[in-house]
Amino acid sequence: MSLRSFVALERPRLVDRKLLTRPQHEGFGAVVRRSIGRYELKYFDPFLVLDEFFVTAPAGFPDHPHRGFETVTYMLQGAMTHEDFQGHKGTIGAGDLQWMTAGKGIVHSEMPASHGTQHGLQLWINLSSKHKMIEPRYQEVHNNDVVEAKKDGVKVRVIAGEAMGAQSPIYTKTPTMYLDFTLDPGSHIEQPIPVGWNAFVYVLEGEDGVFGSMKSMPIASHHIVLLGNGDGLEAWNKSSSEALRFILVGGEPLNESVVQMGPFVMNTEEEIDQTIEDFENCTNGFERAKHWSSQA
Ligand code: FE
Repeated sequence: MSLRSFVALERPRLVDRKLLTRPQHEGFGAVVRRSIGRYELKYFDPFLVLDEFFVTAPAGFPDHPHRGFETVTYMLQGAMTHEDFQGHKGTIGAGDLQWMTAGKGIVHSEMPASHGTQHGLQLWINLSSKHKMIEPRYQEVHNNDVVEAKKDGVKVRVIAGEAMGAQSPIYTKTPTMYLDFTLDPGSHIEQPIPVGWNAFVYVLEGEDGVFGSMKSMPIASHHIVLLGNGDGLEAWNKSSSEALRFILVGGEPLNESVVQMGPFVMNTEEEIDQTIEDFENCTNGFERAKHWSSQA
């Protein structure tokens, strides 16, 4: 346990901005509520995209590449099968986590593995210029192994970082925290966040979450809440009957130029041109793309 979790916040972060997400089409027939990565919020350094996705077969995300960042898939309901050009294949179900470092190149598919709606979150975390071309890597944590803590009507699942004395085993190239909080009616949290990191909340369930200051207005589900600077977050569930579930994500800003073309994120136009060339020619990390297509 770290001492920090017992220290009261001196400078709680306040709500800087909130945005309601709306369903939009993405991939092949999938529906996403995109918060980061949409027109009004292109980039929240180091976060490139946050999607709450809803996928029903035969919709999905067929074969596509990535370079220069990490994708974090956290399943809430249903299951998705992923398959990549290195022969890495698996299915992640409710509560499971896949932390994929695309680095210099991954080509993969992400498709529904069960009936009904597959529901989850996908976060894209940018990699610094010195890490963009590293070897691809996966870290997977099954539902039962996700570290949890419970106290005073609050449950936290620690995807990355540390909360309420519990620590995630996930190693983050770009320093990141990712917490899944559920607050019973009437409960409250105080969660430290490193000063200087960019941090946001995305509300999954509950209509009466109050963030930053007890006096602020409740923020309903499907909103992203960008937090101002400070040493942590205070949040309250003001509902008398409904649970409040939200993720709190924070990351150390990279402060580098970002040039993005779809699933390729680099620092300069030249690097993007080179990436397109590498992908087309199956070189520099895309070698295996030459004779590969998914079975999905
Ligand atoms: Fe992908």
